[in-house]
Amino acid sequence: LAGQTGQELGVEVYAVGGFVRDMLLGIPNDDIDLVVEGDGIVFAQNLGHKLAARVRSHLKFRTAVLILPSGQKIDVATARLEYYEYPAALPIVELSSLKMDLYRRDFSINTLAIHLCPPHFGRLVDFFGGQQDLKDGVIRVLHSLSFVEDPTRIIRAIRFEQRFQFKIGSQTERLIKNAVRLNIFQKLSGARIRHELRLLAEDSAPLDALIRMRDLGLLQEIHPLLHFPQTKEALLEEIEKIITWYKLLFREESPDIWIVYFLGLVSGFDTHQVQALTSRLKFPPKRTDLVESTRRQLRYVAMQLAQWGKNEGSLADLYEILSPLSLEGLLYTMAKQRKLELKKAISHYLTHLQDVGILVTGSDIKEMGLEPGPQFANILRAVKRAVLNAEVRTREEQLKYAKR
Ligand code: ATP
Repeated sequence: LAGQTGQELGVEVYAVGGFVRDMLLGIPNDDIDLVVEGDGIVFAQNLGHKLAARVRSHLKFRTAVLILPSGQKIDVATARLEYYEYPAALPIVELSSLKMDLYRRDFSINTLAIHLCPPHFGRLVDFFGGQQDLKDGVIRVLHSLSFVEDPTRIIRAIRFEQRFQFKIGSQTERLIKNAVRLNIFQKLSGARIRHELRLLAEDSAPLDALIRMRDLGLLQEIHPLLHFPQTKEALLEEIEKIITWYKLLFREESPDIWIVYFLGLVSGFDTHQVQALTSRLKFPPKRTDLVESTRRQLRYVAMQLAQWGKNEGSLADLYEILSPLSLEGLLYTMAKQRKLELKKAISHYLTHLQDVGILVTGSDIKEMGLEPGPQFANILRAVKRAVLNAEVRTREEQLKYAKR
């Protein structure tokens, strides 16, 4: 349909980037990126109309996003005809606008495009040897200034290397080392680095990616405190395991995975050291608060948990110890916990206890002749404790308990 729309409007349309890369690798990818040689916005409006999609346009960049009724998104970019001036006074050459668009991308494996307009529908466009690199499993930049132009590409290279179990090409790796020697990360904004680190933490094999970053001297370049010693690897590995486990639960609430790793990276640090990092990485105030408040809670929670284990406390007690923690704090505490039975207790909290609700409501208590106030909350809390400890189940039992 996109190709047909392009044909009607007299513009060429291509699927590009990650979508094509993943298709050739046989990996599903719902993020469709289209490049239009012509006006991308006019194209997006036409296609949007046919697909009953909402269209959000950015006039400045001539890009648009189509949001389909299913929620799926299609990004549309405009490739403008540009003139490329070669150095050494060679003539100015008009390059295919698609080629220019692809030339600005990070790695050869992301430069593949598929023609969508008839009569070329389905034809693969490969200007930069991306298909061969995809076959060989190589991450390769398109030109030697790529990392100087945009240092975040170094983190992206490592992310893709780990995700696909590819290898950064030898020349590309040399360029990374060179860029590190030029201290290019020091000038890069904290927010951009944090964004890439976040994507890295959410991707596959974050620990291997962090180790790779460390071994290339990148973490050190971002901030000396990020350079974690080998002794921290066991904790980070445990974090990776716990996150994998949690993802398999398919729960509605998803954690900010990067924050869980960050808590691991700063374990054992004092408040000033943590602040140095959150400020270098320009954490938004809410994330800084989350890190700081979680760190304040952790020691106390660990102490209470140990006590709870020793005293064989009740499930209601466990609930009360763990419920003040954020999801990130809970996952981190679970990773950090060495005692298997306490790990299991946290897992039981995450999978069962935190969902427990009660069937007695505020109006039930009002009907008992009580006015809202502290006693009200005490009764509800007592009922909840009884439910958590499986002392009462049905609504009748809970009401009876509340009256007591
Ligand atoms: P993912 O599967 O992680 O979404 P992707 O390749 O689709 O991978 P995006 O981050 O969505 O990655 O980027 C879309 C496209 O934009 C990429 O295919 C890449 O070619 C290009 N791109 C993204 N970031 C950069 C960058 N920093 N420099 C150059 N090109 C980039």
